[in-house]
Amino acid sequence: MSFAYPYCAVVAAAAVAAGRRTGVTMHERGTVVVVQGPRFSTRAESQWFRAQGWEVVNMTQYPEAYLARELGMHYAGIALITDYDTGVEHDPGVDAVTQDRVFAFFEENLHRMRDLLLDLIPRLPADPSSYDCSCTEAIGPLEPHEDS
Ligand SMILES: [Zn+2]
Repeated sequence: MSFAYPYCAVVAAAAVAAGRRTGVTMHERGTVVVVQGPRFSTRAESQWFRAQGWEVVNMTQYPEAYLARELGMHYAGIALITDYDTGVEHDPGVDAVTQDRVFAFFEENLHRMRDLLLDLIPRLPADPSSYDCSCTEAIGPLEPHEDS
């Protein structure tokens, strides 16, 4: 099974449109690096991730995205950016992340994510087989399991 494109282009485009309709700043593209958590990055990791051109450090997406692909689900990631990881080099005004700051940011922005999802979900086609994508073909048709 190919995992070259882990996200459903149809759901991703719909999520971007929903975000824009609800006033959320959206970035259509980006690369997520997934770290085992829960933990924050070291400065060396953060510098390496940035040097690779990866935009988001996350503790989810894997295995969720992979399992969704295996199941033929239409799956997209909506990342709520909370911080600059270990801070911004040469900018003492941007400190390293803390758990309290992340939770405060979530609290301040949860309503934006809720608005986005409430706008998005009713606009998705009710019949997932009608989506113009190949998500459901990722592993081929599922055969009914027969007990012997
Ligand atoms: Zn899809």
